[in-house]
Amino acid sequence: MKIISDPAAIEPYLADESNAFKAPLECVSKVYLPEGVQDLQSVLRDASTGDIKCTTSGAGTGVTGSRAPMCGGCVISMERMLKTEIPENWEMIEREFPVGAIRIAVSPDRTRARISPGLTLDMLNEVLPKGLFYPPDPTESSAQIGSTVATNASGSRTFYFGPTRDWIEALTVILASGEVLRVRRGEILAGSDGFLRFKTEAGGEYQVPVPTYTMPPVKNAAGLFAKPNMDLIDLFIGSEGILGVFAEIEIRLEKELSDPIADVAFFGSGRDSLEYVNGLRRLENGGIVAIEYFDGHSLAFMRENEARLREEYKAAILIEVLGDHDATLDAVAELSDKYNVLDDWSGPPEQFKEFRHSLPESVNSYLKRHDSHKLGTDFAVPLARFDEMMKAYVAVGEEFQKRFPRAGMHYVLFGHIGDCHLHFNFIAENPDEMAFAKSLYLKLAQKAVELGGTISAEHGVGKKTIELEGRVVPYLALMFGEVGLMQIAAAKRALDPKLILNVGNMLPEALN
Ligand SMILES: Cc1cc2nc3c(=O)[nH]c(=O)nc-3n(C[C@H](O)[C@H](O)[C@H](O)COP(=O)(O)OP(=O)(O)OC[C@H]3O[C@@H](n4cnc5c(N)ncnc54)[C@H](O)[C@@H]3O)c2cc1C
Repeated sequence: MKIISDPAAIEPYLADESNAFKAPLECVSKVYLPEGVQDLQSVLRDASTGDIKCTTSGAGTGVTGSRAPMCGGCVISMERMLKTEIPENWEMIEREFPVGAIRIAVSPDRTRARISPGLTLDMLNEVLPKGLFYPPDPTESSAQIGSTVATNASGSRTFYFGPTRDWIEALTVILASGEVLRVRRGEILAGSDGFLRFKTEAGGEYQVPVPTYTMPPVKNAAGLFAKPNMDLIDLFIGSEGILGVFAEIEIRLEKELSDPIADVAFFGSGRDSLEYVNGLRRLENGGIVAIEYFDGHSLAFMRENEARLREEYKAAILIEVLGDHDATLDAVAELSDKYNVLDDWSGPPEQFKEFRHSLPESVNSYLKRHDSHKLGTDFAVPLARFDEMMKAYVAVGEEFQKRFPRAGMHYVLFGHIGDCHLHFNFIAENPDEMAFAKSLYLKLAQKAVELGGTISAEHGVGKKTIELEGRVVPYLALMFGEVGLMQIAAAKRALDPKLILNVGNMLPEALN
């Protein structure tokens, strides 16, 4: 196993894409790069014996500081965890990549694959046999699969396929003690007393109290999953690495979609675009895989790279429809007439990938040019309350602009409108603007919770905090309160009694 101890080589592991959290270099002694279950076990056994804190690292595309080793100690990077064991009768697929050789296994009935956590989504898509695919599709495809399980990541097609959680069949988890735990969906359920009880491979016995808070009835990546009679596997999915490290993952596969079609429709008013989305939701023929929203500010950003985006376009809706749904396509055409679509472009979904991805790219290049900073939300609310959330976004956007009446962009609103999950990104040009943006962010987060939604639908909460009545509190407190945080701490203590894993995620170090 490779071990990095040269400070210059440790430096890239200290932060993630958010750059909001960066661990001090002097606090991190080593980066371990395990290549299999046994390496991982030995790192964790030693860490546990020596009371050394460990932070697991994926590809670092997270936006919540969740892989930043703020607690010091060591980093366990999963980038070399690329080869899985092959169960009997499963098909073995091997391939060379610049980062090393990978090996995955596909089940005899081709409905499942067993993979190692260090594979990126790009790698997985490249090696899966023709005709098969893995539906979860977070936009950032350089993310590692292990991390997408740790954050319960999702993407535009979550509207149809559900989040990562729905596609995970089994996990091999290495616990803080170094013990191996194999968890298969359906095998261990919480008892009526609210505890999950199970044994590790070596016979170690654990019992974990399930938090009693109520999960929001929306796509969610905030906090530990908790429900009466819940499945043990769901406790680990979305746990942001605080309960154990995934060493192997069994995913479910789908047959590749036959000839899906994407269509982006442009509107002269935001209202028309929202009515169009409501119309899409009412269609009975099905087959709509994704519904994505771009406000007028998003389109203004994207205009830099796409001259066909005319100034009168004030909103756009991008949809993907399964190939064999002609009736749905006809109904979409009728909705286009009804809601005054100014223009629309259709084609294979791949053609529109660049269109979608050009938004974060142009926002980031704008920020660099204007020496500005972004503060982005990740809220989702139930469908019945979405109109109210939309009104809150509009009101907050106006308030921000009114308070700082300058030229240039103030915010951009876009995202997974199918799941009532939009990203409102404030663009702040100076510390005063950022301070005000933070106060508006809090207002929106509280609104999302009040409407029965979540403060994080796909990114997780990581090490985020928020200022509430003059106090800095863990971000998650907004949703589950102090009691909920204590319950998460109790679940963590049951699995990681020495509190060495991913300390600072979900809970501040002091609450662990
Ligand atoms: C431009 C851009 C677009 C994005 N779009 C989306 C999107 O559409 N949907 C979405 O959900 N997210 C999105 N993200 C966020 C990010 O890509 C996801 O959160 C992703 O899951 C992070 O993967 P990573 O490998 O980079 O993980 P990292 O940032 O390295 O780590 C994320 C977390 O996973 C934990 N972890 C990593 N590996 C393991 C393991 N084997 N066992 C246990 N814990 C582990 C880490 O400790 C950390 O807590 C986007 C990010 C960017 C920059």
